[in-house]
Amino acid sequence: MSAAREDIVTPGTETRNFLAEKHRLLIGGEWVDAADGATIEIEDPATESVIAEVACGGAADIDRAVAAARKALKGEWSKITSHERSRLIWKLADALEANLNLATELEVLDNGMPRPIAMYSIVAAGINHLRYYAGWATKIHGQTIPVSPGGTQRGDTLTYTQREPVGVVGAITPWNAPLPMVILKLAPALAAGCTMVLKPAEMTPLTALLIGRLTKEVGIPDGVFNIVVGYGADAGAALAEHDGVDKIAFTGSTAVGKIILKAAAGNLKKVTLELGGKSPVVVFPDADIERVIPGAARGAFFLQGQNCMAGTRLFAHEDVYDQVVDGVAAMARAFKIGPGLQPDSDLGPLISAAQRKTVMGFIDAGKSSGAELVCGGAAIDGPGHFIQPTIFGRTNMSMRIAKEEIFGPVLCVQAFGDSDLDAIAEQCNSTVYGLSGSVWTRDISVAHRMVNMIDSGQVSINCHAAVDPAIPFGGNRQSGWGREFGQEGLEPYLKTKATTVMF
Ligand code: NAP
Ligand code: MG
Repeated sequence: MSAAREDIVTPGTETRNFLAEKHRLLIGGEWVDAADGATIEIEDPATESVIAEVACGGAADIDRAVAAARKALKGEWSKITSHERSRLIWKLADALEANLNLATELEVLDNGMPRPIAMYSIVAAGINHLRYYAGWATKIHGQTIPVSPGGTQRGDTLTYTQREPVGVVGAITPWNAPLPMVILKLAPALAAGCTMVLKPAEMTPLTALLIGRLTKEVGIPDGVFNIVVGYGADAGAALAEHDGVDKIAFTGSTAVGKIILKAAAGNLKKVTLELGGKSPVVVFPDADIERVIPGAARGAFFLQGQNCMAGTRLFAHEDVYDQVVDGVAAMARAFKIGPGLQPDSDLGPLISAAQRKTVMGFIDAGKSSGAELVCGGAAIDGPGHFIQPTIFGRTNMSMRIAKEEIFGPVLCVQAFGDSDLDAIAEQCNSTVYGLSGSVWTRDISVAHRMVNMIDSGQVSINCHAAVDPAIPFGGNRQSGWGREFGQEGLEPYLKTKATTVMF
């Protein structure tokens, strides 16, 4: 089987012009080459052709960028009002919206995702996120606390708190949703008054570079947002261990999250981690199956399954098991697989040859595990790292495909009978992850009891992985530390100073 190569659509002129430019690092408001002059080639995963060349920074560039961010933290940026910060974040959202088509095409070419998803779920989500945090910039304040330390008389002493920016933030982001991953960190950091050095995934840096360009265009002061594209083991590691960085905001794999923690220990910098997942989707027999089927299919195959929140373990009650599996498999078989710019593509390629190899390794393990291959199971001939959406039925939690994060279009289905809810929840909680999950039923009591028992940061009822800037998002157990989104998402970018006055 091969993808429909003849349908490759050429990007617009603006996008082609952007790609053809020289892409450098953004340090202290200047576009600069890497200290050692290194560059990397950026590949379109749908065609395997090189679409851009980008400067590739290392430890020396991280040093320069951290120094620029530290200088900016105490400079003009520290003096402007919260209203001005709010206005700048809003202007950045407007500028991104004005470049919606360019940002969409860059995201499609860089990552492979289908164009409508890039436009409406990815870039539009980034714009909303900026506007949401533009609102928060003017609502950050401390408290006044009645105190009586050391036996002072009531009314003689007062403590007030101020919320200060945590300082220089090092942001390290993955390739699966490149643009929002940057904005999830940049928006609250700017709202709080922090400065940032970003190390985006080296495979997908293009929309980060566009955002860098737009921060300059809207007048965000030099050095507030710095970008060092580079490899994780080099630039990423240098950022994570840098003494000039006050906080690391990391999104990526659980394995690298643990490395980041160790690297951060040197100066005890603050750390938030958004890591992997293996999220359950639990379908009770009274659920509205017509809603379950598209919900479960999208939950599993959105971004070709390269999605931390993906609902990759479907638990269906025996009474509806066949109906659910047949319905989701029919959708999976009908998905049109092709380059993201092709207007009717439902699924794009995986990010890289290496990722496809990893996912095919899991599929082979699934085939030899005794699970039933319901659909898919094969790679699609190149060019492009395409793979069929794959469903394994009759899986159980002792199988590797059911336990480990695959980060590809592979859904594992398990049946359950009339067991008690605790037994079902135990299955849901039987991986090291706890990121997302969903429960599908019309029984409000069952729904809420299940939600209380599923140990995940985010659980949905009759939908999967709802995303909105106001919904706190993050993982329990080995899915992470801390939360992004919402008011809670601001907290890691702030520190509290308590001042006590005796009079
Ligand atoms: P990854 O390999 O952990 O990489 C994430 C980022 O860390 C990349 O920028 C990477 O650089 C960098 N990195 C790698 N090694 C490093 C090191 N030693 N020190 C510092 N930085 C280092 O993850 P990925 O493969 O890009 O993304 C997939 C993973 O991300 C999945 O596990 C997925 O679940 C998770 N994810 C989680 C969320 C969430 O919100 N919870 C969202 C999206 C993705 P390179 O560019 O060199 O790889
Ligand atoms: Mg990686």
